Amino acid sequence: MPDAQLPRVQHHEIVIIGAGFSGLGTAIALARAGFDDVLLVDDADGPGGTWHWNTYPGVAVDIPSFSYQFSFAQRSTWSRSYAPGRELRAYAEQIVDEYDLAPRLRFGTRVHAASFDDAASRWTISTSTGEISARWLIHAGGPLSQPKLPEIDGIETFEGATMHTSRWNHDIATAGKRVGIIGTGATAVQVIPEIAPDTEHLTVFQRTPIWCLPKPDFPLGRVGRAGLAVIPGVRQAARLASQAFVEATFPVLAHFHKWIPGTDVVEVAARNYIRSQVADPATREKLTPSYALGCKRPSFHNSYLATFNRPNVALETTSIDAITPTGIRTSDGTEHPLDVLILATGFKVTDRDALPTYRLTASDGTDLAEHWEAGRFHSYQGVATAGFPNFFTVFGPYGYNGASFFTLVENSAAHIVRVLDEARRRNATTAEVTPAAQVSYMESILARRPLQVFSNPSCAGANSYYFTKQGDVPFRASTTVEAAWHSRRFPLDDYAFTR
Ligand code: NAP
Repeated sequence: MPDAQLPRVQHHEIVIIGAGFSGLGTAIALARAGFDDVLLVDDADGPGGTWHWNTYPGVAVDIPSFSYQFSFAQRSTWSRSYAPGRELRAYAEQIVDEYDLAPRLRFGTRVHAASFDDAASRWTISTSTGEISARWLIHAGGPLSQPKLPEIDGIETFEGATMHTSRWNHDIATAGKRVGIIGTGATAVQVIPEIAPDTEHLTVFQRTPIWCLPKPDFPLGRVGRAGLAVIPGVRQAARLASQAFVEATFPVLAHFHKWIPGTDVVEVAARNYIRSQVADPATREKLTPSYALGCKRPSFHNSYLATFNRPNVALETTSIDAITPTGIRTSDGTEHPLDVLILATGFKVTDRDALPTYRLTASDGTDLAEHWEAGRFHSYQGVATAGFPNFFTVFGPYGYNGASFFTLVENSAAHIVRVLDEARRRNATTAEVTPAAQVSYMESILARRPLQVFSNPSCAGANSYYFTKQGDVPFRASTTVEAAWHSRRFPLDDYAFTR
């Protein structure tokens, strides 16, 4: 929009950047606490964040749906134990309606920059649809929102159709075509089995194999859904079992590996699973990771591995030399002719321009991304960073413990509401975490580093996006119960409130 047409500065008490589940959950928590002047902005044209953008064939959750939902808005309507993506997208839209969030949402708005003015105790946020000023700024951008395109020579020369999985173009047919897919992460694991049967030929370009485990995915059916809806205690029991499963399979095994080396047992099971699924020994070998299970996010799928038994599917592990106008050339000189090229190459997770995706500066000009790059990622409970007053992150460094993302959102939202409530009580115009509280939090989290599965030396060969370029893994090494407790019970003196 040309500057002359931009509306005048809009003032709000709170601005939330991102209308995925992080932003929606935080807005609901704020509304419940009586904060009404809240604006959510998002560059998409609808709510749901990653579930709005990712519509590729096969997209589905890979944490059980009983856990992958808000605790206060549990559904008995999921079609499967692991719901397909379109149901999550619909869930986001329902949440907007049920909690009357529509008047607070401004879509099609990309944030370019945010800067804090100490004197006014306000943020100025410049966006594609005008300037906004806010007392409090909440960054609710998810880690999987910025598509990462591979830096491969000639990528722009390909004359067939190209698409990144998170921007799937449903006008591009893969049926009957020679298709190539780069990447074998969680997304590719879902896409490959879905499109393979209809392609003329599918070549999967794998750089690093992924551990793939079976998924207890089953239809809930009318009877199951009715049981969840009407039989007292069934939904609660399903939720409890699911939460325990999620806790046992990620936070406990990853963060307390030295005490409970369960991933070693799971790795043996995963090897047996590959053996049971893949017929050709050479392909089996190529699909078996050489890094310890847990270094990188494993995938869950019941037909991914078996897809490589199909005669029209090839696994290519020779490195890619270049993308050419007609396909891909591997470093052994082989040309792979393609009609469609799918980039399942993931997201910018800890890259400097990913968290946040815009320039965010404190009053003295300190840029948050530079600050984190120079001093390594750090925060207080993933929610606040010293030096950046009146600013909160729902998914900040060392805030997420790897359990259901919804639990993280509820914890971070509870933390933010607690600070803002206290600021309101004290009539304060700024709140900033104290450096001492941040240091103490970081020390408590980093002290557990030697226990984590990520300290396994084989992780060096995993190419895992868990690791920053400095070699840190900015997860919250904590159980979910601990995280929930601290989010709601941290000493309020950990923040400095001023007027
Ligand atoms: P990803 O895990 O980062 O995987 C990207 C893949 O692309 C990797 O196999 C990577 O190889 C490959 N790649 C990247 N650049 C390459 C290059 N230049 N040449 C060759 N290969 C290249 O991304 P993702 O699969 O989109 O998954 C990201 C995350 O999204 C998941 O871990 C998960 O958290 C989430 N996700 C969740 C669900 C779900 O819950 N349903 C589904 C999908 C995704 P290297 O491994 O060698 O780097």
